[in-house]
Order: sequence, then C-alpha cells, then structure tokens
Amino acid sequence: MEKQPQEVVLIGAGIMSATLSIILKKLNPEIKISVFEKLDKIGFESSEAFNNAGTGHSAFCELNYTPQDKNGNVDIAKAIDIAKQFETSKEFWSYLIDNNYISSPENFLRKTPHMSFVWGENDVNFLRKRYEAMSKHPLFSDMEYSEDIEQIKTWAPLIVNGRDPKEKVAATFMEIGTDINFGELTREIFKGLQNKGEVTLETSHEVTDVTRLSNGKWAVKVKDLKSGNSKPVNADFVFIGAGGGAILTLQKSGIPESKNFGGFPVGGQWLICQNKEVIDKHFAKVYGKAQLGAPPMSVPHLDTRVIDGKKSLLFGPFAVFSTKFLKEGSNLDLFKSVKLGNVGFLMNCGLNNMDLTKYLIEQVLLSKEKKVESLRDYLPEAKLEDWFEQTAGQRVQVIENQGGKGVLKFGTEIVAAQDGSIAALLGASPGASTSVSAMINVLNKCFPELMKNQWNESIKTMIPSFGKDFNDATLVAESRAKTNTTLKIK
Ligand SMILES: Cc1cc2nc3c(=O)[nH]c(=O)nc-3n(C[C@H](O)[C@H](O)[C@H](O)COP(=O)(O)OP(=O)(O)OC[C@H]3O[C@@H](n4cnc5c(N)ncnc54)[C@H](O)[C@@H]3O)c2cc1C
Repeated sequence: MEKQPQEVVLIGAGIMSATLSIILKKLNPEIKISVFEKLDKIGFESSEAFNNAGTGHSAFCELNYTPQDKNGNVDIAKAIDIAKQFETSKEFWSYLIDNNYISSPENFLRKTPHMSFVWGENDVNFLRKRYEAMSKHPLFSDMEYSEDIEQIKTWAPLIVNGRDPKEKVAATFMEIGTDINFGELTREIFKGLQNKGEVTLETSHEVTDVTRLSNGKWAVKVKDLKSGNSKPVNADFVFIGAGGGAILTLQKSGIPESKNFGGFPVGGQWLICQNKEVIDKHFAKVYGKAQLGAPPMSVPHLDTRVIDGKKSLLFGPFAVFSTKFLKEGSNLDLFKSVKLGNVGFLMNCGLNNMDLTKYLIEQVLLSKEKKVESLRDYLPEAKLEDWFEQTAGQRVQVIENQGGKGVLKFGTEIVAAQDGSIAALLGASPGASTSVSAMINVLNKCFPELMKNQWNESIKTMIPSFGKDFNDATLVAESRAKTNTTLKIK
C-alpha cells in the first residue's frame, strides 16, 4: 500500500505552495510541512497582484482558449476544461472561508465582468461563432453577445467612445467574471496555516540544492540568507513551487525526467492608468485577439484592477527581454539552465519558432508612444500622459524535448520523479486561477493510490464537485449558488 508522506518540504511561498500546503494538511493532519521562501516576504513573485493580470481565468473572455480551424469552426474544448478548473478553485476558496482560513472574500477577490472585444468582419464572425458554441454549455449559458455599439457602450463606454461608428465591432459579456489578488490570497492562506500551527514557514531562506539520499528520501539544502548559514532538511516528499525558478531547482535534483526540459524567460510590462476621470468610466476585463506570432499569454487586455482598495486600469502585457527566471532573480538564470543535455533541443526550438522571435524583438523595441497606440485599439481616446509603464512578473516559457525537437509548451507542466517523491510545477498558464486543479494533479501523479482510496473522501470535503463533471447543468447551478454567495460574486 502507498505510504502517506510524513515530512514534506515545499520550495517557494507562492500561490501553488500555499494551495498544496493546505490540501496536504487536510489529507494527512499528522504531516510535517516546511516551506522555504528566498524573499523576505511571501507571495511577492509572480503571485503578487501587479506582477500578473489578476484575471480569474474562467475562459469567459480569453479568445486564445477557443482556436478557429481552417474551415472557420471554433473549438471550445480548452475553454470548457479551464472553466471547469476555475469552478474547482472557487469551491476550494469557499471552503477556506467557511473554515476560517480566510476572513473575507473581498480581501482577495472581486466580481469584475469579463468581456471579449473584436473589430473587423473576420473577427466579428469568429466571436459570433464562439458565442453560439459556448452559450450552449451550462458553464457559459449566461454569456451575452452584441454587435450593437450602443449595447457595448452600456458594458464598457471607453472602448467605443471615439470609434468610427461604421466600424464593425462585437463583444461578449459575462457578469460573473472575477479579478483576483493572488498575492493577498497566498498571504491569507499562509497566515491561516501559521495561526493554526499547521506549517513551518521560513522567509529569507533559499533552497540551494536537492539531493537524493540512499534511503530514497531527499536532503534539501537550505541557506539562511541573513546569517549565511546552510542546513540540511530531510523530506520524503518535495514540491518545487519556485515559480520561474522551478526549472533550476528541478535540474539540481538530477531526476532523469528533468533532463527533457528547458526554459526561455519572457518578461512582462503593463501600461497603467490611475487618472480617476478615466478609471471611473470603466469596470470590466476586456480581452482581444493576439497579434500574429504572439505567444498565447500575450493576448492584449484592458483590465479594471482594485489592489489594496485602490482602483487602476491596466493594459498589456507587453513582452520585455530579460535573462532572469524570476523578477528578483539573477541575469545568469538562463545561462545556468542551459546544459549539455538540453542545448540541442533548446536551439532547435529557437530555430523553429522564428515568428515568436520576431514578435519578441518587435515588442522589445516598442516605445511608450507605440504602446499607447496599441492601447488605442481598445481605448480610442487614451492620452499618453494618463499612462505609465510598470514591470510585470517574469514568465519562463517551458520547452520540452520531444524526440530531439524542442517544443514550446504554453500550459503548465508537472514534472515528477517516477516514484512520486519529488515534483515541480513548470510554466505559468492559465496559472494561479487553476492552482487548485494543478495541485490536485501533482497529488494524482505522485500519490495515485492514496488519491483513489484513503484521500478521496477528504478531497470532497474541500471540493464538493470532486469526481463529478461540470458538463451537468444542475451541478453548475448548485456549485455556483454556493460559491457566488460565499465569495460574494453575485
Ligand atoms: C505577466 C503575467 C500575467 C499573469 N496573469 C495571470 C492572470 O491573469 N491570471 C492567473 O491566474 N495567472 C496569471 N499569471 C500566472 C500566475 O501569476 C502564476 O501562474 C502564479 O503566480 C505562479 O505561482 P507560483 O506559486 O508557482 O510562483 P510564484 O508566485 O512566483 O512563487 C514562487 C516563489 O518561489 C520562490 N523561490 C524561487 N526559487 C526559490 C528557491 N530556490 N528557494 C526558496 N524560494 C524560492 C520565489 O521567491 C517565489 O516567492 C500571470 C503571470 C505573469 C508573469
């Protein structure tokens, strides 16, 4: 029979480790969990509010989740999959509120309508077909669609003000979209766990090595960045939740599975507006279509954000060049990750993705004026002086070796040792919104027998829909009735 993990080390204090800590503790209350974070505060890398867009990715508005084939058919399978994962996250966050891990949903989540917006004949036809396909599914049955500029104006006046009235436009609107402060959610979860004495969390502690011991356990070398001293911590399960830094730590473990992966960093930048006259007229997250050659995470969007009670509008992300794997990382990160075993497929990937390379070079060369010009596609009356540039989080695009070819992976990848004793989460899309399903997948991969047997019923106490399918309209209605109330979405 599969053994319950007893001593666990989680590397990094972002949303992924926070989520896994709480799930593991509920599944096995005897477990000893130690979390090490190299920064002097928690949730301040990718999970921090302004480092990501804060979109509760539920596929209501993200057009890259619904690709169109050559015959014009819109495939909504990925959108359904992501929407299901987001419902799972909402159930889990509701459980955290009901069980006093989080005091109030407003601390991290706000209802913010999600819109898709397009212009031009082709894209309008695409959005109409997307709406027709999606609105038949219970997860999207409340979606509204319009090609009428006056209707769109009632949803988001700034995106139509100043636009040529003859231009063909279309939009969809989902009232129950969300904006989420994942940094705050991370801190709330860890605060709840620490108050209940359920984890040991040490900040300013960097994991510098991970080595397999002869008894099969792992020796995790942890450096106290304040004193400079290092200590070994033994674990029978290690989760590398180090965000962009995960690939470097995974490589240190030496597990054969790590040799098939490499990464390429893509920095992000926002345009931000805090002019009250402008921001008070917009309340939605508006997603458009990505530029040709752009990676899926570069879909432009205009977002209402409320962070620490202060409202802003954010537009982007624009790509910026950096060799760091973390915003607070080292310029040597990319070079350190290139090994004899991965250099071949990494170069092959570069050569086969010239359109992405071209896109990144163009982005890096964009001046602020050019960025505001692209913002005017969404906000025709945008003024240069109302917007400032701000660095967003760092992403590491995962590259997998598939028979000597380097293939870019745009989702998240869970890489685990064959015996399930160590696992890492690579990639950042759809990201924090689907952190609960991602962590359930880690457990399925590392502890398949426990998940099927002893742990199965406990998971259902945290996620009532576990094992059921959100294709069922009654389940969607029941689940949303609970989460909309607890999370104050409707
Ligand atoms: C520009 C951008 C926009 C995004 N938009 C969205 C969005 O709208 N919606 C969404 O759901 N997701 C979004 N994401 C993705 C989301 O931010 C990430 O998927 C999520 O925050 C990752 O969480 P994490 O816990 O894995 O990593 P992080 O939050 O980065 O946490 C990792 C932690 O590990 C620490 N660490 C690293 N190495 C070590 C080490 N060796 N020892 C100790 N500690 C270490 C780091 O300091 C960090 O605190 C976006 C990301 C970016 C970059």
